Amino acid sequence: KRSSIREIEERLWEIPRSYRSDMRVPARFYASEAMLDQILADRSLEQLVNVATLPGIVGYALAMPDIHEGYGFPIGGVAAFDLDEGVISPGGIGYDINCGVRLLASSERFEELRDSIGELAREIYRQVPSGVGHGNQITFSSKQLDQVLRDGAPRMVEFGYGEPEDLGHIESGGVLDAADASKVSEHAKQRGRDQLGTMGAGNHFVEIDRIDTIYDCDAAGRMGLFEGQVVIQLHTGSRGLGHQIATDFIRVMNRAMPMYGITVPDRELCCVPFRSAEGQEYFSAMSAGANFAWSNRQLITWEIRQAWKAVIGSSPLRVVYDVAHNIAKVETHEIDGQSRQLLVHRKGATRAFPGQPVIIPGSMGTASFVLEGAPASMRESFGSSCHGAGRRMSRKKAKHLVQGGQLRRELEAMGVSVQAGSLAGLAEEAPRAYKDIDDVVSTVVSAGIARKVAKLVPVGIMKG
Ligand code: 5GP
Ligand code: MN
Ligand code: MN
Repeated sequence: KRSSIREIEERLWEIPRSYRSDMRVPARFYASEAMLDQILADRSLEQLVNVATLPGIVGYALAMPDIHEGYGFPIGGVAAFDLDEGVISPGGIGYDINCGVRLLASSERFEELRDSIGELAREIYRQVPSGVGHGNQITFSSKQLDQVLRDGAPRMVEFGYGEPEDLGHIESGGVLDAADASKVSEHAKQRGRDQLGTMGAGNHFVEIDRIDTIYDCDAAGRMGLFEGQVVIQLHTGSRGLGHQIATDFIRVMNRAMPMYGITVPDRELCCVPFRSAEGQEYFSAMSAGANFAWSNRQLITWEIRQAWKAVIGSSPLRVVYDVAHNIAKVETHEIDGQSRQLLVHRKGATRAFPGQPVIIPGSMGTASFVLEGAPASMRESFGSSCHGAGRRMSRKKAKHLVQGGQLRRELEAMGVSVQAGSLAGLAEEAPRAYKDIDDVVSTVVSAGIARKVAKLVPVGIMKG
């Protein structure tokens, strides 16, 4: 296997089409030499090769250095399809539609707030409902839910949960126009009904960070970031609603696929032509799910601001940016000197258009990074970068190796306040379950697809 992989540029590897007769394009991935063994240890490269067989794929199946095994497509994967000849696949987006990260910036320095961080973490944990399947006391009528599905974060702001300025700092303004609430099943709406403004559990979190290092003063200035600043990351997606949309359409596509004469090497790659009735319906439902997720992060922002006001005071929490890392979008890219509209699937990958803030969480015990998209992203990665450190250990293995109570004591000894719904859940997300974030970030930076702006270190974490 290793012998069929070629390093075509520093830290960019290619598996040629000749590797398997069903490949339509090569497969490429970014990795340092040191990361290669980890990547070869799971099925993620085989999954990437499978993606390279899908109809209408353009250029290459691509993966970021945080690549690991996922449902059908690897997490960390980017795949762009021709709108007419290509497909749309729920596995290329993920069950948590528009899972993403929002970064909020305060105007305060950590040194001044040091003694309030614990209380702030407790208050945020109280204000932002968390845990598997837990709902919110703030509820929405069926009509309002449909409005949120169609209009996304702008509608949430209209309901009073946020400021119009917030919307200018969200990918796509927090709304995808293709959304159609009528394509979302009643079951999905039922599951999501009381989950707006909730974090969920597992990998999702709210985290208070201190800016440890600024690498690029100009970019940091544009984003309003400075050394010593207190900032807050929030990571969650479309909760039960998005999960049910994925479940519903995976069933639909498995049934419809043979009608379109599509065969796939793994049934988890089920897909239909983008232009087909089923493809368009899924695209509309997925877009509605994305709007739900942006509305969710908008309402959580409001809840965090309530907590901030109660504990810290009236100083503002500004939205720096909000990125989606599980989504498919129609975008214009230049391919062989020609401008083309493509359907870009990003699953555990972040859009990184030049000049755009890119938010890369690391883990609860290591650094996280703010990057800025750089020009090579448009030439080489369909305007994309990594989305995190990426797992190197299954949840099961992490739970086996790590004791939650012990981890919590270690974090607190490092000066990190911990609020967690479940110690077993905390153990699954232990820092050692993830790859080395410095290695992942330096790989995308050396590829020229993003630049380093700031390094964040955790001072308070809130987990479901
Ligand atoms: P995913 O969306 O794939 O579950 O996670 C995105 C990334 O978030 C992971 O690859 C990991 O690097 C990072 N991550 C997971 N838990 C935490 C946490 O508690 N704090 C921070 N800062 N990052 C985390
Ligand atoms: Mn998620
Ligand atoms: Mn995520």
